[in-house]
Amino acid sequence: MAAAQRIVIENCSIATVDADDTEYAAGHLVIADRRVESLGAGDAPEGLENVVRRIDATGHLVTPGLVNTHHHFYQWITRGLATDHNLFDWLVALYPTWARIDEEMVRSAARGSLAMMARGGVTTAMDHHYVYPRGSGDLSGAIVGAARDMGVRFTLARGSMDRSEKDGGLPPDFAVESLDGALAATEETVKRHHDTSFDAMTQVAVAPCSPFSISTELLRQGAELARRLGVRMHTHGSETVEEEKFCHELFGMGPTDYFESTGWLGEDVWMAHCVHMNDSDIAAFARTRTGVAHCPSSNARLAAGIARVPDMLAAGVPVGLGVDGTASNESGELHTELRNALLINRLGAHREAALNARQALRLGTFGGAQVLGRAAEIGSLEPGKLADLVLWKLDTLAHASIADPVTALVFGAAAPVTASFVNGRQIVQDGRLLTADEDEIARSTREQARRLAEIAAR
Ligand SMILES: [Zn+2]
Repeated sequence: MAAAQRIVIENCSIATVDADDTEYAAGHLVIADRRVESLGAGDAPEGLENVVRRIDATGHLVTPGLVNTHHHFYQWITRGLATDHNLFDWLVALYPTWARIDEEMVRSAARGSLAMMARGGVTTAMDHHYVYPRGSGDLSGAIVGAARDMGVRFTLARGSMDRSEKDGGLPPDFAVESLDGALAATEETVKRHHDTSFDAMTQVAVAPCSPFSISTELLRQGAELARRLGVRMHTHGSETVEEEKFCHELFGMGPTDYFESTGWLGEDVWMAHCVHMNDSDIAAFARTRTGVAHCPSSNARLAAGIARVPDMLAAGVPVGLGVDGTASNESGELHTELRNALLINRLGAHREAALNARQALRLGTFGGAQVLGRAAEIGSLEPGKLADLVLWKLDTLAHASIADPVTALVFGAAAPVTASFVNGRQIVQDGRLLTADEDEIARSTREQARRLAEIAAR
């Protein structure tokens, strides 16, 4: 076997986000092939062999790569529409357009979504894709291929909808799959793309869309399928007061009780939003170790409310951050979610004690790794874990006058990414992707957005 190739990063601050929140004001980190080999205060040890690159990271903070836990890539080509709606009105306004997507559009939108996140320090992305119009091509394959080509670690949450208007649901009848069709296609996607290796770049989760767009049977059988295949489960839950009302009217109980009754609480489950949770809902999540994808910008955009993140963390609920689809968070960046998680939660009951900068960074890194089921491999910088990490440049106008680097990163403007690594491979240099042509992606997404708008208007 060939000797490990080493990359040495020196003269940087490091926030490891390990269990003790270890930080180094001036430290080093050594990458050996795909993993973090060592890190600590001061210079790297002398006499290291096979050093192929040495990076002087003066003025930088090194953190674990950001982990996104909730997104809908296809929405990249429907940004900036229905801008003044709540969730249900916004969905009803957009479903007819979304139902016209095809493989070419989805590939382009996936590349746009991934590129925007990657250049901003995301090293692990996820896509909850749940719109599969008949005859639209291999959408899951297009999405997985886009992430693989860009070198971003990825979880595809294979979504589905089978409760349309005629069954009391929200999507139009032509936008949904059948129960059996959705389950069979989900199983096929897991078998084709799910990788169980330690350094896996692609994993798949079973992810029916939301209580108001799926049948109770799809939830139940989806949970059975995921557990038979040994993959994780994801869905939307407790997002708005309208959803709460919907669940009480149709099922005679609130969303959390409904999820529990269908097998949807557990350590293999993570749920987006969880805004409208009472104390017993939070206790149920904590007891079952069900994870949460907190999406503060989207929740604000759709006037959904403020998730009780401080209470969830105090109870021991695993919490990560999510961009959510870019039709409800046009920025498409995860850094804004670190900042908004902190700021928006301070508008809730706990005021200034709600979250601090280090807790926000933990949500965006280790917390995300936990809810995606990958805390052993990524989410913190520790010897033996995968080398997914970011060099944030903090010595320019935007941040240089802030002494504490973690405060600068979370409270300050989006920091420039000098370099970003996934599995020890560099994918970003000086804020530009090394693995794709951003200008070409911008052109293509504009073209596909226009094409979709034209088809939808017919
Ligand atoms: Zn969502």
